[in-house]
Amino acid sequence: MTFAQRLVLVQAGLMAAGIDAALMTPGAGLRYLTGYDAKALERLTCLVIRANDDPVLVVPALEVMAAQASPVKDLGIEIRSWQETENPYALTAHLVGPASVVALDDHMWAQKVLDLRDVMPATRQVLAGQIVAPFRMRKDAGEIASLRRAGAAIDEVHAKVPGCLRPGRTEREVGTDIANLIIAAGHVAVDFIIVASGPNAASPHHEVSDRVLEIGDPVVVDIGGTMPDGYRSDCTRTYNLGAPSAEYAASYAILMQSQRAACAAVRPAVTCEQVDATAREVLIGAGLGELFIHRTGHGIGLESHEEPYIVSGNDLPLAAGMVFSVEPGFYLAGRYGARIEDIVVCTDSGYESLNHQPRDLVIV
Ligand code: ZN
Ligand code: ZN
Repeated sequence: MTFAQRLVLVQAGLMAAGIDAALMTPGAGLRYLTGYDAKALERLTCLVIRANDDPVLVVPALEVMAAQASPVKDLGIEIRSWQETENPYALTAHLVGPASVVALDDHMWAQKVLDLRDVMPATRQVLAGQIVAPFRMRKDAGEIASLRRAGAAIDEVHAKVPGCLRPGRTEREVGTDIANLIIAAGHVAVDFIIVASGPNAASPHHEVSDRVLEIGDPVVVDIGGTMPDGYRSDCTRTYNLGAPSAEYAASYAILMQSQRAACAAVRPAVTCEQVDATAREVLIGAGLGELFIHRTGHGIGLESHEEPYIVSGNDLPLAAGMVFSVEPGFYLAGRYGARIEDIVVCTDSGYESLNHQPRDLVIV
């Protein structure tokens, strides 16, 4: 799908919802619609997408060259620059024209939301995500190829993680090595690094600490980065320094079943919450349900976490092209934890995993 087609879809969505315009500020949404990877600054950059007129990009004068170097120029989007002493919000309101409802970028800074409210006091503000997310969730072939490359890059890193894990090293030292590996594998940015060893593995969003790795430790390694085209990777594998305890190994075997069952449940028309329930039922059946303390997954694309969320209460049916994580885990406070995470694509008849490293507990 081209940027121009995406913009037409937004306009159609605005029209159908009775919204006069969408205002998109720098971030994944703007990049998705125009290819412009604009810097998020205090100065206002804002794509004004009117339901029944051509889009206009409001940019600070000093950002005009950056905007022109982006795909915005080839899209023929008019660029309206503003000087340091002008009020860009008044300019934006002028471009929107008389409006009863505007849709704002979901990640717009609160300061900009309120400044827009000041210049359009009678206009109701709603979230643009309701218009953009339904089609942004379904990745096209080009996006799936991008996410496949991101998956291959993070697989390459996990293949080298065992070489970083040695008793006597700290989580932080291991994390520094992994950061270098993430860049060496082709990412342009490191998004997050979790090296959760021993009891730290019981905290799903632990990052790194000065804890020293010891023989017998499980180590949850959850890592991700951004590729040059903006698409993200995210993959978890669990390692063990030396032999695991029998109790831990038994629980891990159940976790593998849970993750496999949830992936196998993925196909069009199955709901997000059914995938979550599938992962959960396996763990509940083995008495581990209470230890699975987070949702099963999240969408991924130009953001690490985006729709669809694989969680109880989300009755959204899956559709071909949706890409999301399947990442059940178990976490026992003060003791240990484990997680297995793959990014999967919902295909016409099932799923394709974008991560291929073995999912077994990796004994280092
Ligand atoms: Zn992850
Ligand atoms: Zn994840």
